[in-house]
Amino acid sequence: MNGSASGYISGMTTDLKLFIAGEWTEGSGDDHYEVRSPVSGEHIYNVPKASQADIDHAVMAAREATEQMRHWTAFERAELCLRIYELWQTRVEDVARILTLEQGKPYAAESIDDIAESGDYFQIAAEDVKRFSGELIPTTERHRRMFTVHRPVGVWAAITPWNFPVMIPMEYVGPGLATGNSIIVKPPEFTSWALLEMAKVFEEAGVPKGAISVIPGAGDIGEALVTHDGIDAIGFTGSSATGKRIVSQMGLKRSIMEMSGNGPTIVTSDADIKKAAEAAVYGAYYNAGQVCCATERVIVVDDVHDDFVEATLKSAQEVRLGDPFDDNTNMGPLNNSPTADKMDRHVADARERGAEILMGGGRAKGHPTDLYYEFTVIDRVPEDAQVSQEESFGPVLPILSARDDSDAVAVANRTHLGLQAAVFTNDLSKAFWYADRIRSGTVVVNDSTDFWETFQPFGGAAGTDTGWGRQRIEEFTDLQTIVFSLREDM
Ligand code: ADP
Repeated sequence: MNGSASGYISGMTTDLKLFIAGEWTEGSGDDHYEVRSPVSGEHIYNVPKASQADIDHAVMAAREATEQMRHWTAFERAELCLRIYELWQTRVEDVARILTLEQGKPYAAESIDDIAESGDYFQIAAEDVKRFSGELIPTTERHRRMFTVHRPVGVWAAITPWNFPVMIPMEYVGPGLATGNSIIVKPPEFTSWALLEMAKVFEEAGVPKGAISVIPGAGDIGEALVTHDGIDAIGFTGSSATGKRIVSQMGLKRSIMEMSGNGPTIVTSDADIKKAAEAAVYGAYYNAGQVCCATERVIVVDDVHDDFVEATLKSAQEVRLGDPFDDNTNMGPLNNSPTADKMDRHVADARERGAEILMGGGRAKGHPTDLYYEFTVIDRVPEDAQVSQEESFGPVLPILSARDDSDAVAVANRTHLGLQAAVFTNDLSKAFWYADRIRSGTVVVNDSTDFWETFQPFGGAAGTDTGWGRQRIEEFTDLQTIVFSLREDM
């Protein structure tokens, strides 16, 4: 039985099932994963480990579902997406509770919005697909007509991470389903409950059996999908290292790859310092910093360094680390030990290189697990420090210095992870000067690097990923050209 959120009782372990080919199943394997909550440390659920036969079954059912949907009109697909969107809204609070329990993000401050917005992908895709058309292409001969139509790519494997365990899968499922694709989602096993709970909505909405399956698991399950001949395309959101491995294994499959960022926030001499500090702090503590467009580095022009540090330390007083089910909390524990260990390494390395830890810098005491990390501010960070070079993915705000604007751009661009950057300036010309020079998929002026809209084109420059284009639904289609030869005597 899949437990329901409101039914969760402390000390109780729920046995989840896989959602394959429209059925709830224990799978045919004889193994399972045991999952503990980062919030309490309790063993909260078991989830079966799928066998190769389960994966083959999901792929086969997905292929059949794609065939079934082949002749649906865009309006029929849009109607299905809107049904999902409407049912989704009725489940938000229950599923948000599970999300907090398994992921650690604060319930009132983040989980509710996170789950609600995840449903928006269906509404947006439903709207987009009704106006999504091919083109009539001019021809050289009078008796010919040439036009294009968008066809579904086919069966996708969406391999997704643990920081947004419901929202990121829906980035693929919403537009993918709206354009007639089937999607097999593979979330990490340790953040799969909220997603499996939401999969009940797909069933209730009447999604064709097999069009959406959910198979939680570790990297080996992901690899089995990446290399499967029955999968046409890969959607991947995760680390750059895993992304590179997937690209080397997937052959000629279509793909959308969204990977790491090392988001610089630049604070210039004419910035609104208070606003810049608040945005940088927010970008560093939201979801405990476990966001691909988090504030990973703050590059401050020397003239305003001291004012910025003072404003940051003041703003950081607003971070309230604690029990994520407490409405007053705005930062919960980190999700997992590797992430907390990386934070420890980055802080120790920065300290060794002479940086100053102005606040935090370690695991907070007195919590049920050792994943509660202090909000950390580090000043005078040298550029070669790990916390500057790599994505920390934790609640840390490293401050780097720049002599002037040119130096700030140079520091910002010395990265291979150019996903989303922010610039604080009150000078319009300077804002464009920066936007023209920063190698980053998105440049946000006067707001946090964490700025996000569900319909925003998103993707990195400087090799971080291929990202999403202006029309998300287009990424899920193949363009087909149809050429007509008409009677020449008319
Ligand atoms: P993180 O380091 O943040 O956990 P990963 O990139 O390792 O990020 O994980 C993102 C997703 O990729 C997860 O669903 C994970 O299970 C999956 N994954 C990990 N290794 C592989 C692999 N070799 N092939 C396919 N998927 C993988």
